Order: sequence, then C-alpha cells, then structure tokens
Amino acid sequence: MDKIKMTTPLVEMDGDEMTRILWQMIKDELLYPFIDLNTEYYDLGLEHRNETDDQVTIDSAEATKKYGVAVKCATITPNAARMTEYDLKEMWKSPNGTIRAILDGTVFRAPIQVKGIEPKVSCWKKPITIARHAYGDVYKGSEMKVPGPGKVELVYTAEDGTEVRELVHNFTSPGIVQGMHNINNSIESFARSCFSYAIDTKQDLWFATKDTISKKYDHTFKDIFQEVFDAEYKEKFDELGIEYFYTLIDDAVARVMRAEGGFIWACKNYDGDVMSDMISSACGSLAMMTSVLVSPQGYYEYEAAHGTVQRHYYKHLAGEETSTNSVATIFAWTGALRKRGELDGIEELMTFADKLEKATIDTIENGTMTKDLALITSLENVNAVNSEGFIKAVRATLEEML
Ligand code: NAP
Ligand code: MG
Repeated sequence: MDKIKMTTPLVEMDGDEMTRILWQMIKDELLYPFIDLNTEYYDLGLEHRNETDDQVTIDSAEATKKYGVAVKCATITPNAARMTEYDLKEMWKSPNGTIRAILDGTVFRAPIQVKGIEPKVSCWKKPITIARHAYGDVYKGSEMKVPGPGKVELVYTAEDGTEVRELVHNFTSPGIVQGMHNINNSIESFARSCFSYAIDTKQDLWFATKDTISKKYDHTFKDIFQEVFDAEYKEKFDELGIEYFYTLIDDAVARVMRAEGGFIWACKNYDGDVMSDMISSACGSLAMMTSVLVSPQGYYEYEAAHGTVQRHYYKHLAGEETSTNSVATIFAWTGALRKRGELDGIEELMTFADKLEKATIDTIENGTMTKDLALITSLENVNAVNSEGFIKAVRATLEEML
C-alpha cells in the first residue's frame, strides 16, 4: 500500500511526561506506517520551553495561524514543585493559555462514546460538546470584604473624566462585594467560534445565560450572540438544517438531562467550568475526552482534555509497566489529520482518520482496553493491556480494516 501524501504541514506540538511517551508510540505504530507524515515540529516539552524562554510556545501558535491546523500533546503547567524538578528560569505560563490568547479561541470538549462505557445519564446517545468562554466574569473579578456600614458603588470614569455611578449596596453591617467584567470583542469572538464549529460539525448550538435576572450583563451575551448569528451565520445554519437555540441557563440544564445529545452547548465561563466536569464525569473518564481550540478565524488546535498523567510517568521511569489510555491523544491526531485533509481536499487522509477512530473504538468494544476503562466497563471477558499493548492492538484492528 502506498503511503498517504500530505500537501500542507500539520503543526505538531510535542509535550511532557507520559503523554510524550504515548505521542511517539502513536506516531510509530499508527501514523508513520500509513502516512507520509508532514509536520512542522515544535517541542513544547518543559525543558525546551525553558531553554527558549517559552518562545517555542509562541512560535507554535504563530505557525498555527500560518497553516491553520495543529495537534498538541499535553504539557506541564509549571508550579513551585516543577521549578525545582526542571530547574526552571521562570514559572512559565500555561502553554494552553498562551496559545489560546494568541489564537483568541474557544475550547470545545466532547466525550468519545463507546459501547460498554455508557454515560451515567441513560438518555445520552450522542456526545454533548461543551464550549466554554474562557475570558472574564468571576475569573477576572475584583473582590472586597466590606468591614461594616457604608456604601459600595460601581464607578465608570470615561477618558474625558466624566463619571457614571451605580449603587451596589448600602451596607448596614459587614458583607462582601465583587466586581466583574467582560468585553464585547471577546464575546463576539466566542460567538463566532461557536457558530463556525456548529457549522463545521453540523450540530445544533445551544446557548444559555441568566438574562432575566442580569438584564445588562448576561443580556449583552444574549444580544451579541443573536446579532452575530443573524448577520453572519443564519443562512448557513438554514442551509444545513441546524438550529441556534437560546434559553435560560436553568432551562438548559433541565433540557440537557432529558436530551439525546449530539449538540454543542455554549457556556459562559463559570457555567462551562462547572458543566464540563459534569459531562466528563457522567461519561466515565477524562481519558475519553477530546478537546479542540477553534479560533474565530477558523484555526484549529486538537488535543486530549487530560494532562500529562504524571503518576504513570514516574512509574514508567521506575521501569514499571503502565496502562495509560491513549484514546484522546489518538483522537487529537485524527481530528487534526481529518481537518487537514478537508482543507487540502485529500480524501484519503479524511478516510484514514475515520478508520483509525473506528479501529480505536472497535478495539475497545471487542474487549481490549487500558486499565482505567477495564475498571468501569460493563463488557465481560475484558483484556486489560498496557500502554503499548493497547496501541499495538489498535494497529492490528486498523490493518485488518485497510
Ligand atoms: P492528569 O494528567 O489529567 O491525570 C490525573 C489522573 O487522571 C491520573 O493520575 C490518572 O489517574 C487519570 N488519567 C488522566 N489521564 C489518563 C489517561 N490518559 N489514562 C489513564 N488515566 C488517566 O492530571 P495531573 O496528573 O494532575 O497533571 C499532570 C500535569 O498535566 C500537570 O503538570 C498539569 O499542569 C498538566 N495538565 C496539562 C493539561 C494540558 O496540557 N491540556 C491539562 C491538564 C493538566 P490514576 O493516577 O488514578 O491512574
Ligand atoms: Mg473546573
């Protein structure tokens, strides 16, 4: 069989610890034998980020703007312990944060559903994709403890010095207060990323806020979404027969619990934080959750939702066997390869991505899986394998299919 050719390079962002080990195995076993893999390689491993003063992270994000599609391995976000472990010059920022800021993107997370690992909510037949607005609100709030009686106000001072004031509360006893903000541009970018991803994946888009109570703050989110939709996306949605559906956040939560799935749920920052954990835990495993960053201009960066699986890596370093789940990392590659194929009109690359995903799911549904899944599956006669064993089993299934 001839290897599949690629015309445009994929931006490849390598990472850390156990996922870096899986990364190499996936390329060796599941990609190189079948594809003339064309990537522009950026090593986002913490050592190399430190050597380059984190310039490599910025370069990789810029490359994503140039080529349009990236695939990223999980990376360490340094903390105090990592400063000593890696002898870092600085506590470098989260690469995901840096990349997201440069691409101005929104993260979409969806569970990978397989038979034998059914969602805890029995009516969910298809994945629910969560899109979280990753800017502002309580995450950039300023807070105060109010020590005793007194007046708290919001004050806006325009550049010309004029002031607008709004009373928050006349305190008669101690209390607490919080100020938060968002920016119309950021909400617009969020809306555009959501509408384009809905079109891209041909799924309905749901959005919800508490606009009945928050008549200016949340209502602005609702209005911006509607304006952007009507002006730029309505026609395309009608053409595809998909829907933009706005409702109150409590109504959305109630409907999600009765829904079949198969839609995108756009959430404000806090709602997305909370609801993505609900969806992922209801679907079984963080190792079965995909993640894609979509910029309003239509740049894509695919990755797994989980981290570098540090505990397994230390076992691996100690020479012990690991059983780390590579499914979400495999799906990061297939997502990126399919998108590359779509943009470059390479049918075989898209078909290959579909087949590799099917081979991965079939392998699990036929009973071969890593330990994390073996512990929660309803399948019987399960063959729990190690990290490498799983990837080799997927390769065997894939070779049968091709
Ligand atoms: P983690 O890598 O997500 O792993 C936490 C635990 O979840 C693991 O110890 C393991 O449980 C289980 N798990 C996660 N992924 C798994 C997989 N693929 N297969 C099997 N089990 C899996 O989080 P962490 O260990 O707390 O964080 C490690 C590093 O990842 C941190 O430095 C953090 O900054 C980074 N991180 C990066 C990203 C990213 O790049 N997107 C995201 C999150 C965290 P058991 O130990 O019980 O087996
Ligand atoms: Mg959270």
